[in-house]
Formats: sequence, structure tokens, C-alpha cells
Amino acid sequence: MAETVLTTNEPHDYAGANHHYAEHVFPVRNPVAGSRSRCVVVTCSDPRCSPEHFFKLKEQEATVIRNEGGRTADPAVIRTVVLLSLLMGSAGQAINEVLVVHHTDCVAYAFSNEELMEMIAKNDDAAPGGPFKAGALTWAEGLNFMGVPTGGSEYERLVRCVKQDVKFLRSHPLLKPSIHISGWIYDIKTRHAEKIES
Ligand SMILES: [Zn+2]
Repeated sequence: MAETVLTTNEPHDYAGANHHYAEHVFPVRNPVAGSRSRCVVVTCSDPRCSPEHFFKLKEQEATVIRNEGGRTADPAVIRTVVLLSLLMGSAGQAINEVLVVHHTDCVAYAFSNEELMEMIAKNDDAAPGGPFKAGALTWAEGLNFMGVPTGGSEYERLVRCVKQDVKFLRSHPLLKPSIHISGWIYDIKTRHAEKIES
């Protein structure tokens, strides 16, 4: 049997979908009063990796921070987790759990920093979307793409990176020891999430 392929080529009626959602779907009567996340999840921007669904978290139960690869050593991640713990803490609803979730078949694990820089420096006119604008390489040099060196199996690289990212958060001076931090690998094919001890 042929595999079902999801397509995003059809136009989507964002306004119509939202109107239906606001009128018929939203289950929380007063979302302003008592709003509180159960946890923060740091995960990949890949839309197949949707922790609200595979952890069966209801609307408003999770604050999900996404970046490519779900890496934690990203100033934007630290900024958000620290602000949440400070601001929610002052309201008596401090964040006390962070889950780091990486996933299989992740494109972030396919390239090293050096390979990514090479692609940008090459600035191939025939690449999808065309060439970069002037100054692209200077910008790229100031970024850490957090590419993962190849070598070893995909699973070994995932385990290594999850442990590294959990360790980074656990040892970060701005995150209080009372915050529980765990690492997970989500398998895109089986949809099982495995907790990685570290
Ligand atoms: Zn990914």
C-alpha cells in the first residue's frame, strides 16, 4: 500500500479556521485566569515533532520552545526559560519542569557547522530559493548553527546531544536546582518517546 504523503501545497484559510476554533473548539472558559504551564518543552522546529500531541498535553498545559534541533545552548532558550521562571515564580506559579526532546530523522543532525558554513560561503545561484543577499557570510560567521558532527549512528548522535543539552541546562547558573530537567528522544516512525537517563 502506498504511503500517505501530507501536502502543504493547498492554500489554508487561516482566518476561517481561527473563527471556527474561537467559536466552537476552545475548551477553556476563562483562559486568562489561572493560566499555568505544566512544563516547558525545548524541542525541534520540525512540525512532525509535536510534544503537545505525543505527550498528550492539553491546550495551555505546555510552553513549547522550538529551534532547529531543539538545542538548549541557545541564548533565546535560556532567556525564555529564565524569564518564565522569574515571572511565573513571582505569580506563585514557577516553572519546575523542563523536558528536552530531540527526534529521529532530524535534518539538524545531518550537517556539521563547517558544512553549513561551506554551503553559505558557496552561495550557489542554483540552490532552492536562489542566492543569499550581500553580507550573508558575515552574519553566518556570527551565528552558532549548533550543527552536529557526523560519525556514529543517528541514535548515538541523538543520545550524545540530548545528554549534552540536559547537562547544559542543569549546570546553567540562572536555572535553579529545583527545576527538574529531563532528556528524551522521539522516534518519528514509531511515535515512541524514550527517556534518556543522564
Ligand atoms: Zn528536527
